[in-house]
Amino acid sequence: MLLTKIVRDSILDGPGCRYTIFVKGCNLRCEWCHNPETQLLEQEVFTYEQFCIQCGLCLTAIGTNLPQKQMPIRIKDAADPRYFKCVDICPTGALSFAGKEYTIDWLLNDLLKYQLIYKQTNGGLTISGGEPLLSGDFSYELCRRVKASGIHTAIDTSGTLSWETVARFLPVVDLWLYDIKHTDDPAVQSALNIANFKKLINQNTEIWVRIPIIPGYNDNKSIWKEMARLIVAAGEKVTRIDLLPFHPYAAPKYTALRRHYKFGDRREETETIAKLAKSVFVSYLPKERVSMGKTMVHG
Ligand code: SF4
Repeated sequence: MLLTKIVRDSILDGPGCRYTIFVKGCNLRCEWCHNPETQLLEQEVFTYEQFCIQCGLCLTAIGTNLPQKQMPIRIKDAADPRYFKCVDICPTGALSFAGKEYTIDWLLNDLLKYQLIYKQTNGGLTISGGEPLLSGDFSYELCRRVKASGIHTAIDTSGTLSWETVARFLPVVDLWLYDIKHTDDPAVQSALNIANFKKLINQNTEIWVRIPIIPGYNDNKSIWKEMARLIVAAGEKVTRIDLLPFHPYAAPKYTALRRHYKFGDRREETETIAKLAKSVFVSYLPKERVSMGKTMVHG
Protein backbone atom coordinates (compact mmCIF):
# COMPACT_ATOMS: atom_id res chain seq x y z
CA MET A 1 0.00 0.00 0.00
CA LEU A 2 1.24 3.51 -0.80
CA LEU A 3 1.40 5.65 2.34
CA THR A 4 2.33 9.32 2.39
CA LYS A 5 3.23 9.42 6.07
CA ILE A 6 3.54 7.39 9.27
CA VAL A 7 3.23 9.27 12.58
CA ARG A 8 4.05 7.06 15.54
CA ASP A 9 3.18 9.57 18.27
CA SER A 10 0.09 11.42 17.05
CA ILE A 11 -2.20 13.01 19.62
CA LEU A 12 -4.57 14.47 17.01
CA ASP A 13 -6.19 11.38 15.54
CA GLY A 14 -8.09 9.73 18.36
CA PRO A 15 -7.59 9.05 22.06
CA GLY A 16 -4.16 8.51 23.63
CA CYS A 17 -1.00 8.15 21.61
CA ARG A 18 -1.71 6.98 18.05
CA TYR A 19 0.17 5.17 15.32
CA THR A 20 -1.38 7.10 12.44
CA ILE A 21 -0.84 6.19 8.82
CA PHE A 22 -1.97 8.20 5.81
CA VAL A 23 -3.04 6.13 2.81
CA LYS A 24 -2.79 7.46 -0.70
CA GLY A 25 -6.02 7.67 -2.65
CA CYS A 26 -9.30 9.48 -2.03
CA ASN A 27 -12.65 9.46 -3.81
CA LEU A 28 -13.14 13.19 -3.11
CA ARG A 29 -11.18 16.21 -4.37
CA CYS A 30 -11.75 18.84 -1.69
CA GLU A 31 -10.20 22.07 -2.92
CA TRP A 32 -8.95 23.04 0.56
CA CYS A 33 -7.28 19.66 1.23
CA HIS A 34 -4.32 20.05 3.61
CA ASN A 35 -2.55 16.99 2.25
CA PRO A 36 -3.18 17.00 -1.53
CA GLU A 37 -0.59 14.28 -2.12
CA THR A 38 -3.05 11.83 -0.53
CA GLN A 39 -5.72 12.40 -3.21
CA LEU A 40 -4.49 10.30 -6.14
CA LEU A 41 -4.05 6.56 -5.79
CA GLU A 42 -1.02 6.63 -8.09
CA GLN A 43 2.51 7.54 -7.13
CA GLU A 44 3.36 11.24 -7.60
CA VAL A 45 6.51 13.32 -7.51
CA PHE A 46 7.09 16.57 -5.63
CA THR A 47 9.38 19.06 -7.37
CA TYR A 48 10.89 21.55 -4.91
CA GLU A 49 12.83 24.00 -7.07
CA GLN A 50 14.37 25.73 -4.06
CA PHE A 51 16.34 22.56 -3.24
CA CYS A 52 17.73 22.05 -6.75
CA ILE A 53 21.50 22.56 -7.05
CA GLN A 54 21.38 22.03 -10.84
CA CYS A 55 23.76 19.09 -10.69
CA GLY A 56 22.08 17.58 -13.77
CA LEU A 57 22.01 14.02 -12.39
CA CYS A 58 18.27 13.72 -13.03
CA LEU A 59 18.67 14.63 -16.67
CA THR A 60 21.52 12.21 -17.16
CA ALA A 61 19.47 9.43 -15.58
CA ILE A 62 16.69 9.71 -18.13
CA GLY A 63 18.80 10.80 -21.07
CA THR A 64 17.26 14.24 -21.50
CA ASN A 65 19.22 17.25 -22.62
CA LEU A 66 17.05 19.99 -21.22
CA PRO A 67 18.86 23.27 -20.56
CA GLN A 68 19.91 23.69 -16.93
CA LYS A 69 17.45 26.50 -16.33
CA GLN A 70 14.62 23.98 -16.72
CA MET A 71 15.79 22.00 -13.73
CA PRO A 72 14.51 20.49 -11.57
CA ILE A 73 13.02 18.35 -14.26
CA ARG A 74 9.27 18.65 -14.51
CA ILE A 75 7.80 15.19 -14.40
CA LYS A 76 4.83 15.56 -16.64
CA ASP A 77 3.25 12.17 -16.09
CA ALA A 78 3.77 11.51 -12.42
CA ALA A 79 2.45 7.96 -12.76
CA ASP A 80 5.01 7.06 -15.42
CA PRO A 81 7.68 4.85 -13.82
CA ARG A 82 10.07 5.64 -16.69
CA TYR A 83 10.85 8.88 -14.91
CA PHE A 84 11.13 7.50 -11.40
CA LYS A 85 14.84 6.75 -11.64
CA CYS A 86 15.56 10.47 -11.79
CA VAL A 87 13.74 10.88 -8.47
CA ASP A 88 15.81 8.17 -6.83
CA ILE A 89 19.01 9.79 -8.02
CA CYS A 90 18.32 13.38 -6.88
CA PRO A 91 20.74 14.09 -4.00
CA THR A 92 18.91 17.05 -2.44
CA GLY A 93 15.24 16.11 -2.25
CA ALA A 94 14.33 18.58 -4.99
CA LEU A 95 12.61 15.57 -6.50
CA SER A 96 10.86 13.29 -4.03
CA PHE A 97 8.11 10.73 -4.08
CA ALA A 98 4.77 11.60 -2.50
CA GLY A 99 4.21 8.05 -1.29
CA LYS A 100 6.12 4.96 -0.24
CA GLU A 101 5.00 1.33 -0.36
CA TYR A 102 4.49 -0.65 2.83
CA THR A 103 3.16 -4.10 3.56
CA ILE A 104 0.70 -5.00 6.29
CA ASP A 105 3.30 -7.27 7.92
CA TRP A 106 5.85 -4.45 8.07
CA LEU A 107 3.36 -1.98 9.54
CA LEU A 108 2.09 -4.45 12.13
CA ASN A 109 5.62 -5.30 13.26
CA ASP A 110 6.51 -1.62 13.44
CA LEU A 111 3.39 -0.73 15.45
CA LEU A 112 3.89 -3.62 17.87
CA LYS A 113 7.34 -2.28 18.81
CA TYR A 114 5.53 0.59 20.55
CA GLN A 115 2.45 -1.31 21.71
CA LEU A 116 3.18 -0.63 25.39
CA ILE A 117 2.79 3.12 24.78
CA TYR A 118 -0.40 2.68 22.80
CA LYS A 119 -1.93 0.38 25.41
CA GLN A 120 -0.88 2.49 28.41
CA THR A 121 -2.31 5.68 26.91
CA ASN A 122 -5.49 4.03 25.59
CA GLY A 123 -4.21 4.91 22.15
CA GLY A 124 -3.78 2.70 19.12
CA LEU A 125 -3.89 2.62 15.35
CA THR A 126 -5.55 5.30 13.23
CA ILE A 127 -5.83 4.91 9.48
CA SER A 128 -6.23 8.29 7.83
CA GLY A 129 -5.58 9.58 4.35
CA GLY A 130 -6.75 9.95 1.74
CA GLU A 131 -9.75 7.73 2.25
CA PRO A 132 -8.99 4.48 4.12
CA LEU A 133 -12.22 2.82 2.97
CA LEU A 134 -11.11 3.21 -0.64
CA SER A 135 -8.20 0.88 0.15
CA GLY A 136 -10.70 -1.53 1.64
CA ASP A 137 -8.80 -4.82 1.80
CA PHE A 138 -5.60 -3.22 3.09
CA SER A 139 -7.33 -1.08 5.75
CA TYR A 140 -9.63 -3.90 6.84
CA GLU A 141 -6.85 -6.45 7.25
CA LEU A 142 -4.56 -4.06 9.13
CA CYS A 143 -7.38 -3.09 11.51
CA ARG A 144 -8.33 -6.74 11.99
CA ARG A 145 -4.80 -7.78 12.91
CA VAL A 146 -4.15 -4.78 15.17
CA LYS A 147 -7.44 -5.29 17.00
CA ALA A 148 -6.65 -8.99 17.37
CA SER A 149 -3.45 -7.86 19.14
CA GLY A 150 -5.56 -6.07 21.74
CA ILE A 151 -4.92 -2.58 20.40
CA HIS A 152 -7.57 0.08 19.76
CA THR A 153 -8.37 0.90 16.12
CA ALA A 154 -9.77 4.02 14.46
CA ILE A 155 -10.66 4.99 10.90
CA ASP A 156 -10.68 8.59 9.65
CA THR A 157 -13.25 8.64 6.86
CA SER A 158 -15.39 10.94 4.76
CA GLY A 159 -18.11 8.27 4.89
CA THR A 160 -18.82 8.68 1.19
CA LEU A 161 -18.58 5.12 -0.03
CA SER A 162 -21.44 2.64 -0.07
CA TRP A 163 -22.96 1.60 3.26
CA GLU A 164 -21.84 -1.97 2.54
CA THR A 165 -18.25 -0.72 2.35
CA VAL A 166 -18.62 1.16 5.63
CA ALA A 167 -20.43 -1.67 7.42
CA ARG A 168 -17.74 -4.20 6.53
CA PHE A 169 -15.41 -2.36 8.94
CA LEU A 170 -17.73 -2.40 11.95
CA PRO A 171 -16.25 -5.57 13.51
CA VAL A 172 -12.65 -4.29 13.27
CA VAL A 173 -12.99 -0.56 14.07
CA ASP A 174 -13.42 0.77 17.63
CA LEU A 175 -13.72 4.45 16.77
CA TRP A 176 -14.92 6.33 13.69
CA LEU A 177 -13.42 9.74 12.99
CA TYR A 178 -16.28 10.79 10.76
CA ASP A 179 -15.96 13.92 8.59
CA ILE A 180 -18.97 16.11 7.94
CA LYS A 181 -17.94 18.91 5.59
CA HIS A 182 -21.30 20.24 4.42
CA THR A 183 -24.97 19.33 4.55
CA ASP A 184 -25.86 20.00 0.91
CA ASP A 185 -22.95 19.82 -1.51
CA PRO A 186 -22.78 17.11 -4.20
CA ALA A 187 -19.03 17.78 -4.60
CA VAL A 188 -18.42 16.18 -1.19
CA GLN A 189 -21.33 13.75 -1.53
CA SER A 190 -23.22 15.24 1.41
CA ALA A 191 -26.31 13.10 0.83
CA LEU A 192 -24.36 9.82 1.07
CA ASN A 193 -22.21 11.19 3.91
CA ILE A 194 -25.29 12.00 5.99
CA ALA A 195 -27.18 8.82 5.03
CA ASN A 196 -24.21 6.70 6.18
CA PHE A 197 -23.89 8.78 9.36
CA LYS A 198 -27.52 8.08 10.23
CA LYS A 199 -26.90 4.36 9.76
CA LEU A 200 -23.63 4.42 11.69
CA ILE A 201 -25.20 5.97 14.78
CA ASN A 202 -27.47 2.94 15.03
CA GLN A 203 -24.51 0.57 15.29
CA ASN A 204 -22.65 -0.48 18.41
CA THR A 205 -19.65 1.78 17.91
CA GLU A 206 -18.15 5.13 18.96
CA ILE A 207 -17.96 8.19 16.70
CA TRP A 208 -16.00 11.43 16.78
CA VAL A 209 -17.34 13.91 14.22
CA ARG A 210 -14.72 16.09 12.51
CA ILE A 211 -15.81 19.30 10.81
CA PRO A 212 -13.33 21.41 8.82
CA ILE A 213 -14.33 25.08 8.99
CA ILE A 214 -13.51 26.39 5.52
CA PRO A 215 -13.71 30.12 4.69
CA GLY A 216 -16.19 30.86 1.93
CA TYR A 217 -17.40 27.26 1.90
CA ASN A 218 -19.16 26.20 5.10
CA ASP A 219 -18.50 29.19 7.36
CA ASN A 220 -22.09 30.15 8.05
CA LYS A 221 -24.38 29.66 10.98
CA SER A 222 -27.21 27.96 9.13
CA ILE A 223 -24.92 25.09 8.04
CA TRP A 224 -23.43 24.80 11.52
CA LYS A 225 -26.91 24.64 13.07
CA GLU A 226 -27.96 21.96 10.62
CA MET A 227 -24.85 19.94 11.43
CA ALA A 228 -25.40 20.41 15.16
CA ARG A 229 -29.00 19.17 14.91
CA LEU A 230 -27.79 16.11 13.02
CA ILE A 231 -25.29 15.34 15.77
CA VAL A 232 -27.82 15.96 18.55
CA ALA A 233 -30.04 13.32 16.92
CA ALA A 234 -27.15 10.83 17.24
CA GLY A 235 -27.40 11.02 21.05
CA GLU A 236 -24.53 9.62 23.11
CA LYS A 237 -23.05 7.73 20.16
CA VAL A 238 -21.06 10.82 19.13
CA THR A 239 -18.70 11.35 22.05
CA ARG A 240 -16.72 14.25 20.59
CA ILE A 241 -16.94 16.92 17.90
CA ASP A 242 -13.69 18.40 16.57
CA LEU A 243 -13.92 21.72 14.72
CA LEU A 244 -10.88 22.03 12.47
CA PRO A 245 -9.89 25.61 11.57
CA PHE A 246 -8.69 26.05 7.99
CA HIS A 247 -5.09 27.07 7.35
CA PRO A 248 -3.30 27.63 4.04
CA TYR A 249 0.02 26.00 5.00
CA ALA A 250 -0.34 23.33 2.32
CA ALA A 251 0.27 25.89 -0.46
CA PRO A 252 3.93 24.84 -1.10
CA LYS A 253 2.80 21.25 -1.63
CA TYR A 254 0.31 22.29 -4.31
CA THR A 255 3.14 24.16 -6.05
CA ALA A 256 5.42 21.14 -5.75
CA LEU A 257 2.70 18.94 -7.25
CA ARG A 258 2.11 21.49 -10.01
CA ARG A 259 -1.53 21.95 -8.99
CA HIS A 260 -3.60 25.07 -8.54
CA TYR A 261 -4.55 25.84 -4.92
CA LYS A 262 -7.75 27.84 -4.81
CA PHE A 263 -7.32 28.60 -1.11
CA GLY A 264 -3.65 29.58 -1.22
CA ASP A 265 -4.26 33.28 -0.60
CA ARG A 266 -6.98 32.92 2.04
CA ARG A 267 -5.83 34.68 5.18
CA GLU A 268 -9.08 35.12 7.06
CA GLU A 269 -9.18 34.97 10.80
CA THR A 270 -9.82 31.26 10.61
CA GLU A 271 -9.32 30.63 14.33
CA THR A 272 -11.89 33.35 15.04
CA ILE A 273 -14.35 31.80 12.58
CA ALA A 274 -13.86 28.38 14.17
CA LYS A 275 -14.46 29.89 17.62
CA LEU A 276 -17.70 31.38 16.32
CA ALA A 277 -18.63 27.92 15.02
CA LYS A 278 -17.86 26.48 18.45
CA SER A 279 -20.25 28.96 20.09
CA VAL A 280 -23.02 27.67 17.79
CA PHE A 281 -22.27 23.99 18.42
CA VAL A 282 -22.15 24.38 22.21
CA SER A 283 -25.60 25.95 22.13
CA TYR A 284 -26.83 22.53 20.95
CA LEU A 285 -24.37 20.11 22.55
CA PRO A 286 -22.59 19.71 25.91
CA LYS A 287 -19.56 22.00 25.73
CA GLU A 288 -17.17 19.30 26.97
CA ARG A 289 -17.92 17.35 23.80
CA VAL A 290 -17.00 20.19 21.40
CA SER A 291 -13.26 20.74 20.80
CA MET A 292 -11.08 22.85 18.58
CA GLY A 293 -8.98 20.33 16.66
CA LYS A 294 -6.00 20.74 14.38
CA THR A 295 -5.07 19.54 10.93
CA MET A 296 -1.42 18.85 10.28
CA VAL A 297 0.38 19.48 7.02
CA HIS A 298 2.83 16.70 6.38
CA GLY A 299 6.12 17.61 4.79
S1 SF4 B 1 19.16 15.74 -9.51
FE1 SF4 B 1 17.97 17.04 -8.10
S2 SF4 B 1 19.39 18.65 -7.51
FE2 SF4 B 1 20.28 17.67 -9.34
S3 SF4 B 1 19.48 18.90 -11.06
FE3 SF4 B 1 18.04 17.23 -10.78
S4 SF4 B 1 16.47 18.08 -9.41
FE4 SF4 B 1 18.25 19.43 -9.28
